[in-house]
Amino acid sequence: MKEKFITIKEVALNNNCPECYNTNGLQLTFKQRFVENKFYKSITQETMHLLECSTCNTSIYPVRWTEDIERVFNYHQRAFSPKESSFKLKKTAWLLIISTLIFMLILIGIAVVPNLL
Ligand SMILES: [Zn+2]
Repeated sequence: MKEKFITIKEVALNNNCPECYNTNGLQLTFKQRFVENKFYKSITQETMHLLECSTCNTSIYPVRWTEDIERVFNYHQRAFSPKESSFKLKKTAWLLIISTLIFMLILIGIAVVPNLL
């Protein structure tokens, strides 16, 4: 099963990086989890976010966030709307369902037809 997070929204923040104090490196990313396997494709309601600084190449974890970063983050999180969750069966799944149905019809046929004769 393939699980992946897809980037839904990226925002550049003007806040100071808590690590290198640069003001043009912070990048906030919102991601949403997708699941895909042979039979179906699904968008989950599970989201995650991460804050990275491209100047010092560091992930900034919430414990390091300043009040300013938190305020800006809250603002963007409110504005962030994830994709609606969905669930789609793939062709393989449909083929399996249809062939199972046909198989069952044949079995019923074998059981019922001799009684009709
Ligand atoms: Zn930095």
